[in-house]
Amino acid sequence: AQTVCAPLPVLGGDVTVPLVTGGEVAYAALDYAASAPALQRVWDDVAAYAPYYGSVHRGAGYLSQLSTDLFENARKAVAAFLGCRDGDQVVFTRSTTDSLNLLARALPADCQVFVFETEHHASLLPWQDGKVTYLDAPRSPRQAVETLERALADRDPHGPALVCVTGASNVTGELWPVRELAAAAHTHGARIVLDAAQLAPHHPVDVRDLDVDWVAFSGHKLYAPFGCGVLAGRADWLREAGPYLLGGGASRRVTRRADGGVDVEWHESAARHEAGSPNVIGAYAIASACKALTEAGWDDLVARERHLVRTVREGLAGVPEVRILSLFGDDAPRVGVISFVVEGWNSSHFAAALSAEYGIGVRDGLFCAHPLVRTLLGGDPQTQGECGAPEAAAGEKSLNAIRVSFGAGTPDEHVRRFVDAVR
Ligand code: PMP
Repeated sequence: AQTVCAPLPVLGGDVTVPLVTGGEVAYAALDYAASAPALQRVWDDVAAYAPYYGSVHRGAGYLSQLSTDLFENARKAVAAFLGCRDGDQVVFTRSTTDSLNLLARALPADCQVFVFETEHHASLLPWQDGKVTYLDAPRSPRQAVETLERALADRDPHGPALVCVTGASNVTGELWPVRELAAAAHTHGARIVLDAAQLAPHHPVDVRDLDVDWVAFSGHKLYAPFGCGVLAGRADWLREAGPYLLGGGASRRVTRRADGGVDVEWHESAARHEAGSPNVIGAYAIASACKALTEAGWDDLVARERHLVRTVREGLAGVPEVRILSLFGDDAPRVGVISFVVEGWNSSHFAAALSAEYGIGVRDGLFCAHPLVRTLLGGDPQTQGECGAPEAAAGEKSLNAIRVSFGAGTPDEHVRRFVDAVR
């Protein structure tokens, strides 16, 4: 058996939950793709700093200076984590959804956006006010690149264009060929934004190596608490766009005009899109998580996760009623996110039973990727659905699926208990 490093200590690791069958069991959090538990190290860093926080960019006092330094240093830590280029901006947002909506508001006039129908709704929907081309689900990484190349070749080569793509699917966990898609985008004069919400917690993301123009991710999936996210990348479109929110912090100079109106000079830095008092603790927590993951070492983290993925996939392979959902096939490289259906079972009931009878927390539903899940279930991607839609009656075809997901804090025992429970 391969030796892998120990899981990183996370919050909630010792929480016990009651079982319907009686007694209590240690909670197995296997829903990292929704929100991962915060690293203990992140919590400790935040607790050490929290008593000293003050206003950011506004106060003359010592604690305000300290907070401003920590906030700006958090920006630098995130830039280092992502291998940003000179001149790139790191904007702190609320989440990946917020980051992609910010970019959507910053697109140049007539920008054409290309997005696969397989994306999470956060990457699928923010572009709807402009010109969007939705690309059909590819059945291999190669087909993804070919589909994009064909679509880009047909576009007006003179106008601006943006490709938005996920790095790792929140449904199948499969890795997308980001480097190749970026090369295709750039060959055709388009830019590319990487939705790294599921990639960044599991894999190193290097902006220069992947040659992507922007990266978006969320703190609460990267082992930091809720409420803060990142959009990092090229400064030009962000600088030329109007501010995302209008208010203090984004404005450098505000003057009254003779006609009674108000003139505003907006910042050109990341502050342009961070109006209002920023989430300094959230940014500090993200920076702490970035440092903790880097120090733990990606080679070890990736090897450990592969071992967990193997344990789950091999375990589920022994259950004939289980069908794992996959777009690119069994051999596709993937992170610790696995969705499946169980023949003869209602997915919602199955997930509820894992919780009530085994103390295992997974997710059921369409995972905010309705067209993708419908395609994977063999349904019509155009059919309307709702997140958390009611499951088909027993005996009918599944309308939703079960997702198990894990990461740097997951002990082997949790995935073994999961496999045993499914069996
Ligand atoms: N993109 C992907 C691939 C995701 O998995 C998620 C969250 N499930 C998001 C974007 C949105 O992240 P958030 O809810 O933090 O905005």
